[in-house]
Amino acid sequence: MKKKVLVIGAGIAGISAALELAKCDFYVYLLEKNASIGGWVSSFTCKAHDKCTKCSVCVAKRKIREVLVHPDISILTNSTLKQCHGEIGHFDVEIEQNPMHTDQELQEQKLAVHAIIPAIGFELFDVKQYGRLGYGRYRGVLTGFDLEKTMLENGNLHFPVNNTHAPSIAFIQCAGSRNDNNNYCSRVCCKYAMRFALLIKHLNPAVSVTIFFIDIQNAGKGFAPVYEECVGSIQFIRGIPVEVIENPGKRLEVRYENIAQGNVKRDVFDFIILSAGIVPRPGTWDLARKLGINLDEYGFFGTTGTFNSNDTNVKGIFTAGSCQGPKDIPDTIAHGIAAAERIVEVFAK
Ligand SMILES: Cc1cc2nc3c(=O)[nH]c(=O)nc-3n(C[C@H](O)[C@H](O)[C@H](O)COP(=O)(O)OP(=O)(O)OC[C@H]3O[C@@H](n4cnc5c(N)ncnc54)[C@H](O)[C@@H]3O)c2cc1C
Ligand code: SF4
Ligand code: SF4
Repeated sequence: MKKKVLVIGAGIAGISAALELAKCDFYVYLLEKNASIGGWVSSFTCKAHDKCTKCSVCVAKRKIREVLVHPDISILTNSTLKQCHGEIGHFDVEIEQNPMHTDQELQEQKLAVHAIIPAIGFELFDVKQYGRLGYGRYRGVLTGFDLEKTMLENGNLHFPVNNTHAPSIAFIQCAGSRNDNNNYCSRVCCKYAMRFALLIKHLNPAVSVTIFFIDIQNAGKGFAPVYEECVGSIQFIRGIPVEVIENPGKRLEVRYENIAQGNVKRDVFDFIILSAGIVPRPGTWDLARKLGINLDEYGFFGTTGTFNSNDTNVKGIFTAGSCQGPKDIPDTIAHGIAAAERIVEVFAK
């Protein structure tokens, strides 16, 4: 009989782990709290302009389609873990499935599994906490995720051309990352901001785009040409905007410290895009408590492996994806596959 694994969270990490396990002759229960699978990536679109910018969204979407029809992966949507007891090879878990319709009752089911992969992903930093940046107050202040949603819903990103001037857009990086509270890099936001900057320029040739940054994270296979293209067409300012204020003409005035010049400056834009940081999901602590696993200093799932970042303090529980720390799609897929490989390795012994 096939060994069984419970994967908690059907984002791209959980999906990658599930597909790898099924390939290695395991049976997988893939648990998802929402009605549909895919996590954040299901709200993303292709960010190619006239060239592919290697965002990996199409790779992720192929995996989502693949998992939906896999005979050895049972997808349980609207479902969460209620309880978990046992040890490696013999975990007894209780699942709660919310009703699809209001006239149905909450369903519970018990499963016996050999191993567990928590893969519950991340939350975005709530940029409204930075009232000074104007999100939720000024219509022209958006987040990177708002751009993703607009692109998905409209298939386009058009910025209205004003009679008096060509529109100007500024990205503000590290909104909620690399500060005293969240003292780490979110790793994905520089690259998606640069991809969006190129796409916006392509779709709106008259627009000028500026990126305010602390450090630009431009590493990653295939990204060098994208960065070079940005350097040629986008203004980069090493500086930290401290405040966004709407002026009487309804334009957005940004006050920032220009680190290169060592002075405080003001510039005016029509739209501001905040690159909100990646933080642990609010449910991370609760799931860690049910599974008995530790959290790290930032509140992501903690790991113990010397040579891998999947092993937790509980034998038989291996974490995958951005619930262990910020990751882009290629790193998330690799981490999900690595979690699956750890299980294959452990049960082969
Ligand atoms: C605005 C934005 C743009 C981005 N653009 C790119 C890009 O262009 N290229 C790129 O490589 N990366 C990009 N990323 C990063 C990308 O989103 C992540 O790499 C990816 O989503 C991580 O997948 P994951 O499976 O770890 O987490 P998630 O996508 O968060 O998936 C986790 C899943 O677990 C489910 N879940 C949560 N809690 C529970 C629970 N208790 N029980 C059951 N299920 C649960 C969730 O509903 C979700 O479906 C971007 C990120 C942002 C914020
Ligand atoms: S990697 Fe991204 S930009 Fe390239 S084709 Fe796929 S979805 Fe489009
Ligand atoms: S990826 Fe860029 S924007 Fe995001 S936290 Fe790191 S340095 Fe800041």
